[in-house]
Amino acid sequence: MVGVGEVCGWSCLVWEVDSRSVVNGKKKNISGDRAGGRLEDSGVTRRRRRGLLGWYRKHFRALPWRVEPGRGRAPGSRKQHPNPYHVLVSEAMLQQTQVATVIDYFKRFVDEFSTIQALADADEQGVLRAWQGLGYYRRARNLHAAARRIVEDHAGQIPDSVDALLSLPGVGRYTAGAITSIAYGQRVPVVDGNVARVLARWHGISEAVDTTPVIKKLWQLAGHHVPKSRPGDFNQAVMELGALVCRPGVPDCGACPVARDCHAHQTGQASALPVLTKKAAPKKVTHHTLAVRHGRRYLFVQRPEKGLWSKMWELPTAERLAGRPGGDQLCAWADRQLGLRIDSPRRVSGFTHQTTHRRIDFVIWTATAKSSMNTKGEWRALGRLNDLPLAKPQTRAIAAIQADEITD
Ligand code: SF4
Repeated sequence: MVGVGEVCGWSCLVWEVDSRSVVNGKKKNISGDRAGGRLEDSGVTRRRRRGLLGWYRKHFRALPWRVEPGRGRAPGSRKQHPNPYHVLVSEAMLQQTQVATVIDYFKRFVDEFSTIQALADADEQGVLRAWQGLGYYRRARNLHAAARRIVEDHAGQIPDSVDALLSLPGVGRYTAGAITSIAYGQRVPVVDGNVARVLARWHGISEAVDTTPVIKKLWQLAGHHVPKSRPGDFNQAVMELGALVCRPGVPDCGACPVARDCHAHQTGQASALPVLTKKAAPKKVTHHTLAVRHGRRYLFVQRPEKGLWSKMWELPTAERLAGRPGGDQLCAWADRQLGLRIDSPRRVSGFTHQTTHRRIDFVIWTATAKSSMNTKGEWRALGRLNDLPLAKPQTRAIAAIQADEITD
């Protein structure tokens, strides 16, 4: 059984080499250079890299944070490399979010904060507001904190070393690799979900790719593959291959530049790989959002520094009321948590919001405050929320309250 192993001729690289693979319960020989060899470049390796880079030049998506691959670029030259600030912003946005969603957000963001200095000078609420709708708001706060650190400690220059990048808030190994290879032309690997899927299939990795030892091996494999010349293009080529051709589920092997050497394709396992560990089912919880009105204004509060939607604003929301609370419990909660006496709340509507780990049923209530004095937060008319960053469930809750106002 082939473990985490190199069995193709692409790099002559061996982890745990066995010249046989199991296909439908039967062992199959992988002949010649596919059985592995020494950990070094070969003519085969260079040819495969060229094939992949040629495919990328032809098929790459022209995205606003990219430059055309290889155009007039001398190895190590910063000419023609994308702006490191654009790479940093795009990589922060692309974590957990699809390219198609990110494009418009990226354009608006770099329009509003055109340099690292402009981002560092901005206030956090403005940055969160620009991020509104992208989700995972910690990314925005980390990016903002990283910009301030870059201005303070690196004279406004985005570092070109992996170690310096890793010391910045929110920058992990993947982002550091993307910036150093794509923006600075250094021979540094990247492994994201797309790269992991391509490498797992290409090399016939049958262990779960989201376990620590396999992740470590994927980084080693990626580090071996990335060339000295055009490392940024190469890394992007592998990621693009994962996004466009070697997709989750059933890959389009007929359009793949490495199909000839791909273990999974050769052995009929392409759609069975990569293997992932089973994730726990999302936890079901209920949040009660209370739109408290005083005159024409509603109370908004800021969420705490830590946790889900940290530092975003919201209509006050009770997250830990047991069972199916009625108006009396909500009155008591408002008194206790907000220092606010309210008339008995009325239930307006509800919806479900899914996060990575939780399935949240939102119940939306409305109530009238007896006074607006001595409360935490801000009283705002619903038409004057432009400067308050609001997560998606809150925009839905506000829309429900607006619709209720019309019909009430
Ligand atoms: S041949 Fe198929 S499975 Fe292999 S890397 Fe290409 S698309 Fe993925």
